[in-house]
Amino acid sequence: MKKKICLIHTGGTIGMIRSEKGYLPKENYLASALEAIEDLKNPSMPDFDLFEMCPLLDSSDMAVGDWNRIGEEIASRYHLYDGFVILHGTDTMAYTASALSFMLEGLDKPVILTGSQIPLCEIRSDGRDNLITSLLIAGEGKHKEVCLYFGGRLLRGNRATKMSADGLLAFDSPNCPRLAEAGISIRYLPVPKPPKCDTDSNFSLCTLEDVPIGVLKVFPGIRFPIFERLMTEKLKGIVLETFGAGNIPGEGDALLPIIERAFEAGSVITVCSQCPQGTVSLGTYKSSSPLKNAGAVSGFDMTTESCVAKLYYLFSKHYSKEEIKALMEENLRGELTK
Ligand code: ASP
Repeated sequence: MKKKICLIHTGGTIGMIRSEKGYLPKENYLASALEAIEDLKNPSMPDFDLFEMCPLLDSSDMAVGDWNRIGEEIASRYHLYDGFVILHGTDTMAYTASALSFMLEGLDKPVILTGSQIPLCEIRSDGRDNLITSLLIAGEGKHKEVCLYFGGRLLRGNRATKMSADGLLAFDSPNCPRLAEAGISIRYLPVPKPPKCDTDSNFSLCTLEDVPIGVLKVFPGIRFPIFERLMTEKLKGIVLETFGAGNIPGEGDALLPIIERAFEAGSVITVCSQCPQGTVSLGTYKSSSPLKNAGAVSGFDMTTESCVAKLYYLFSKHYSKEEIKALMEENLRGELTK
């Protein structure tokens, strides 16, 4: 029997049109653009229904409420379709993919985010292949998790990151092998499946609360006290993007008391690396070992996108700060390697 895919259009370059102010999303346009792609009617394509979200967004305008709306669109049709393809802007696609990987608890169907760097209305658009291959992969259903397909690469959603602002191979997952590569044929690769969600074996949606989360990128000469109030009073979850394997300048003298006060106040500080590839290893250098004692947790090889989404998710589950600390270091959906 032919597979049935739910295609949800959220906005992004793929469905944008030219305007005097630059490319922008246009309501009710995508259906006609898809009608013009004859290959979508090829018998080897799965059947699909198109749903358009309102308003359509440039993904740089998306926030937690929009992730919830996408999650609700999927959840309300979960039992009607074999898989889902989400058309999305590239700028924050890796954040949405990460967020959905946590929100869609007990997911047992493929959810594939894709988009394009060049709109479908332009002659050299990469949207056509990204859409067709995503629909085929969703129909084949080999990976029943949140994935991101772009430029011939099928990636684990919560491992993906945007690597290029203008290249057509825009995404990769430097800390996780690709799930598939689409060349002459679609070649699936043997990547361990993400752990099963332990809260519920049935599918359910966990919507996220808009808790205050922040990302602080360490740089040479950073004056930590400038950020003290932000870290101790304003933010609940903080992603600290450190050098290399988790190193901070000044042996942490200025930062450690701030981390301690932030943790007392209920904030969880997760240490990530500024390097796209490799892992945080607290304690390898003298400049990173005090972070752990002060109460920070290791983000291991998580992307910043995934770390941000995981903090939203864990705070939305109302765990205690100790539980959140412990779960940040656990592999919940394949987002980290320990
Ligand atoms: N600004 C666009 C977006 O993220 C870029 C894109 O889709 O490629 O919606």
